[in-house]
Amino acid sequence: MRYVSSAVPSHKDASLPRSRPQRGQHRIGGTQLPDDVRWSGDHWNIVDDALSAGPRHPRRGRRTLIAWPGYHSGLSLASFDRRVVGAIAKPLAHARADSQMISAALDAGMGVVLPGETWRNQLPPGHKKRAGAFAQLASHRPGMRLDPEARRFSASFAERLAVDNLDEQLRAGATLATTAAHVHEREAGEGRQNDLLLTRLTAEEFAARRAFAPAPGRRGRRELYATLIVQGLHAANPRTVEWLASAYAGLEGVDGYWIVAVNTTKSAKQLRGYTRLALQLERLSERPTVLSGVGDPHLAFLASGLAATCAGLYGMNFKFPPDELDSDDEDEPTRLAVHTYHRDLLGNSGPLGLEGNALRVALFHNRPCGCPHHAPDRPPLGRSAIIRHNSWCIQADAYAFATPAVPTAEAHLSDRLAQAARNRSFHGLTPLPSGFAAVAVEAARLRGGESEISDG
Ligand SMILES: [Zn+2]
Repeated sequence: MRYVSSAVPSHKDASLPRSRPQRGQHRIGGTQLPDDVRWSGDHWNIVDDALSAGPRHPRRGRRTLIAWPGYHSGLSLASFDRRVVGAIAKPLAHARADSQMISAALDAGMGVVLPGETWRNQLPPGHKKRAGAFAQLASHRPGMRLDPEARRFSASFAERLAVDNLDEQLRAGATLATTAAHVHEREAGEGRQNDLLLTRLTAEEFAARRAFAPAPGRRGRRELYATLIVQGLHAANPRTVEWLASAYAGLEGVDGYWIVAVNTTKSAKQLRGYTRLALQLERLSERPTVLSGVGDPHLAFLASGLAATCAGLYGMNFKFPPDELDSDDEDEPTRLAVHTYHRDLLGNSGPLGLEGNALRVALFHNRPCGCPHHAPDRPPLGRSAIIRHNSWCIQADAYAFATPAVPTAEAHLSDRLAQAARNRSFHGLTPLPSGFAAVAVEAARLRGGESEISDG
């Protein structure tokens, strides 16, 4: 049993601290608590597997966060809460220059995901995202602008791209490999068929070379996930979602799915679509599904039972085509400012720099943060402290929504959303994305069998 309700007061008890205390400080009103009482992020629980690590690869029925630590973020492996973070992910293009964290994660028995981001071949050859490290990858296609929708890939082109992309991920240490995938202007057309072809070819290659066997000198099976990049506009169309879920659920030789949301407004309509897609894929295929690119509402997907989400520094949103000076810039990673997350807002606390400073000072004064990376009642200052604060808070929230049973987690999210809406309005901040609350509504509809999608 994971949770035992206890005599320890619930999170509604005003005498409790609002945030998680540091290790060794499990006390209420000066009373030391037994070791098996843990702060879940928002309420106290007696947890008999409090220290059990999350699975290194997503598993249905055990929700986890795949941490996206960002390029040379300064985060150490020790900063990950292994109860909820089982794996780390970073772009394959960054693997060589940022390999230390990958080795450390492998040594620690964590999963490693290194998405090849072959969609970068769709950008003009001079684009910054095609230069630098990506240009060194075998899966880079120099001198051409790939248009997956123009025509069906030739067998040899598709096979080469599928194999190059897989090869390079495995060589760089990926334990969970992902298939090559692209951004589509139209859905269910030639471009999507090309991605499905790449997925089938990668699955064949993965099986043929027995890539599921542990890497030399390592333990633990390797897995292959099919990548689906889906635009927000397309996710809003129930027929498209139905088609995608059915087409990908039927694939053979994959262990799960890696959904990348792109260009999403996070409207209720779009996030409901991603909810249907992700949960239907899990249900039809009985395989775990990971969702990335939906921003802070990823928490709602964890609350509603999705096997995993991927979130972290710069890994929250995906825009295509990306800005030339995108934040995840391998050449000058430390140049760009970082937003400050606040758990009581379920999002970022106002504009960057001077413009937002006064607001953050007031916010942290009124609503102190429990992370160990700055004075609780003052905002973290400087890139390094902000990154460590954000990473800690993202994990604490993921833990809070991924650990309780789904109905409890959804109820808790509903409370937190109401509270965050009040706080945001009080501080004059933009409202939460409307899709945040829509995920649980759609998930409940699916559980109740009211889906617009048939099982086919
Ligand atoms: Zn903090």
